[in-house]
Amino acid sequence: MLTRREMLKGAAFSAAGAAAITVTGDAEAREARPMPEEALGLLFDGTLCIGCRACIAACKDVNGMPAERTKLEIGNYWDAPLDISGKTLNVIKCYRDGAGTHKDEVKDGFAFTKTSCMHCVDPSCVSACPVSAMTKDPVTGIVHYSLEACIGCRYCVEACPFGVPRFTYDTPFPKISKCQLCEPRYADGHFSACAEVCPTGATLFGKTKDLKVEVARRKALKPGDKTEFPRGRIGGTDSYLGVIKKYVEHVYGEKEIGGTQVLHLSGVPFDLLNKPALPDVAPARTSETIQHAIYRGLIAPLAFLGGLVALAYRHMRPEAEAAKPPPAPPAPPAPPAPPDRRDEPEGDEKDGGVP
Ligand code: SF4
Ligand code: SF4
Ligand code: SF4
Repeated sequence: MLTRREMLKGAAFSAAGAAAITVTGDAEAREARPMPEEALGLLFDGTLCIGCRACIAACKDVNGMPAERTKLEIGNYWDAPLDISGKTLNVIKCYRDGAGTHKDEVKDGFAFTKTSCMHCVDPSCVSACPVSAMTKDPVTGIVHYSLEACIGCRYCVEACPFGVPRFTYDTPFPKISKCQLCEPRYADGHFSACAEVCPTGATLFGKTKDLKVEVARRKALKPGDKTEFPRGRIGGTDSYLGVIKKYVEHVYGEKEIGGTQVLHLSGVPFDLLNKPALPDVAPARTSETIQHAIYRGLIAPLAFLGGLVALAYRHMRPEAEAAKPPPAPPAPPAPPAPPDRRDEPEGDEKDGGVP
């Protein structure tokens, strides 16, 4: 029988083994992932946005998203979404203070902001997904979702620091819903519908490296300067003459969790626009290290568990042997079989068969 002392000894050994492996394991964050050279993204310039919401309607249209009922204090509205959801991949929200009369000003002002997937350089949703249903394209950097691979665990929903992926609980076959930068439209010369339809160029599509150059150009100009604002896609032919507003220093998405392919410019601080304050380091860098350390740490307890089972088995065997009944005495030898006389001649046949 395995004594309690032996069991405790084994448990202590197991804990020590697991702790040793965890402590000696690599606790450093892994290397930061670089932005793909040809990464695609969006630039949202809140100072150019007029809140027309054409981008929401276009996004729904090209992605086949259904309308939804919006409940407001003043009544129910049809398809005026206040946030992204399983039926809405992109939404424009509004900051408002006091009288709300001064555009892009904090006091008595208002400002617009966009909410959609940021297409992170090192996405937490990709890192958290156990079956690679979330993947990052190595060339465009677009973060894709595969319905076929998804097992519905919703780890990506929990992992995304921007609260983007939504699970369609209210459908018979739920799935994850998020912006995929309208990639299926590129083949026939289209691009992101939200940028294509935006009348002011507030949402602009292009390579993230080109969008960054455009950000720097706008920020180098003085408020009140006139400039050509590209409309639709950067490097295209469509533009218009507009006036530069005063931007806050922060370019949202430039550094957040290792950088994102979608960038935001604003005239008011991003915390007023409910954009989460995030560290520069991608959580995936450390969470993956911890995951791997845990997997490595599991080897010791599992090995010990195997040892424990073997130990218990060894201790139980003599008892099992003792509990066995004594062996039965050997059986006496069987008596010799009587001779088979079926082929022998009977009676008169023995004497030649003569009557
Ligand atoms: S279409 Fe352009 S201007 Fe209109 S709400 Fe969207 S981003 Fe703003
Ligand atoms: S914003 Fe969220 S869903 Fe989009 S790529 Fe980043 S982690 Fe993934
Ligand atoms: S890129 Fe396409 S899916 Fe994403 S927000 Fe714009 S329209 Fe919607």
